Amino acid sequence: MRPIMPAALALILVALAAGADAASCRGRLDALGTARVLALDPQGVRVGRKQFPHTLDLGPREVVLTFDDGPVAGSTALVLDALAAECVQATFFLIGRNAEANPGLARRIAVEGHTVAHHSMTHPPTLAHMPYARAVADIERGIAAVERAVYGQSGGAPRVPFFRFPGFGQSPALLGYLEAKGFAVFGADLWASDWIPMTPPQELSLALARLAAAGRGIVLLHDSKLQTARMLPAFLRELARRGFRVVHVVPKGAAH
Ligand SMILES: [Zn+2]
Repeated sequence: MRPIMPAALALILVALAAGADAASCRGRLDALGTARVLALDPQGVRVGRKQFPHTLDLGPREVVLTFDDGPVAGSTALVLDALAAECVQATFFLIGRNAEANPGLARRIAVEGHTVAHHSMTHPPTLAHMPYARAVADIERGIAAVERAVYGQSGGAPRVPFFRFPGFGQSPALLGYLEAKGFAVFGADLWASDWIPMTPPQELSLALARLAAAGRGIVLLHDSKLQTARMLPAFLRELARRGFRVVHVVPKGAAH
């Protein structure tokens, strides 16, 4: 019998664990839950009204939860715990070097059924101000590092062709590069400004006020921030209480 390669084994384990996670949420009527899965054809997609003219096709009170800059020790695990407690799936835009440093956490994000997306290798302050070739290299190294950490191998077409620019530092040339590679580029519709230090209750009220004003949309948070991890359980409870529904975005054709 042909031995199973480690990479293939890792994929099988990811699939099995995702199934187990879904099973643990069956019948959990008390949880916020994931209301629906949006299978996105990534080609040419640029979404998020903070950066682009369009956003995802969301109904009233539908939100897409996104987390940037992980995985990091401490806060990312707390974010995953909070999402699991409410049976909610989110999208994580991982930094390549963080995935390399914390491969167990990177795998846990995938195992628990979340979408693993890309956010460059080193999170330069703005890719748009770097020489084009260096910027592309940073993007590609990031994608490869995340794929290696999560799936045990890289190369070929990325499993999730979703990218978010660090600091939204995009340029027409880099947008064109990502479009040619078949990537969807994610901006955001609202955020909690969690790069500014504040207490979890302050961040909670800011996030809820902005969500109430927007009514729907792609919400940007950072799993790298402890203040966000600490306000998340209350935020998810409030989403449920206020009748918001969580939409999980996956690339079209992905097994879900
Ligand atoms: Zn970032």
